[in-house]
Amino acid sequence: MTRLIFLGPPGAGKGTQAQMLCQNYEVPHISTGDILRAAVKENTELGRKAEGFMKSGELVPDDLILGLIRERLNKEDTANGWLLDGFPRNVEQAEFLNALLEEIDQSCDAVINLEVPDDVLVERLLGRGRVDDKEDVIRNRLEVYREQTEPLIALYEGKEQLKSVNGDQDLDQVTSELTKIVES
Ligand code: AMP
Repeated sequence: MTRLIFLGPPGAGKGTQAQMLCQNYEVPHISTGDILRAAVKENTELGRKAEGFMKSGELVPDDLILGLIRERLNKEDTANGWLLDGFPRNVEQAEFLNALLEEIDQSCDAVINLEVPDDVLVERLLGRGRVDDKEDVIRNRLEVYREQTEPLIALYEGKEQLKSVNGDQDLDQVTSELTKIVES
């Protein structure tokens, strides 16, 4: 059983590492960013509402995100576990998740904080070329991360669920450290 939350700033490598682990452990990779980008591409109501926030690097309002997570975690493919990538992103989302997990009688095994210095993050994001990877938007996303998401580190540390991993190393090295955590 593998139930993990990936924390860490934009550009830390959450998506790449999540994909790798999810393949290995055969659990769904639940990325709210991927779900939102797909909605934008398909021009759904969710996509139309979310697009402006994403383009400016702001968080999409909770009322668009919470129902989506509830629905996703209630799907049958989560029976073996799940990996949440990019959710929760603020204290309200973390509290919602807490209550939801209690309601569906599940608990999270570990919250993984991928740590990468700011200058490396900016360099990585600039090289990625996504529509929200322009320099001013990157700066805003990092600021939003510091203000809204970083407080979750202390919150999960307090619950003794937090594991920090140095994300500024070779991909394989990071994967191997993450694998150790999953198997511990
Ligand atoms: P990501 O791919 O996780 O970097 O997310 C890309 C963008 O999608 C973010 O900058 C936000 O605008 C939006 N987003 C993704 N996940 C969330 C979330 N949990 N809450 C609010 N907005 C989100």
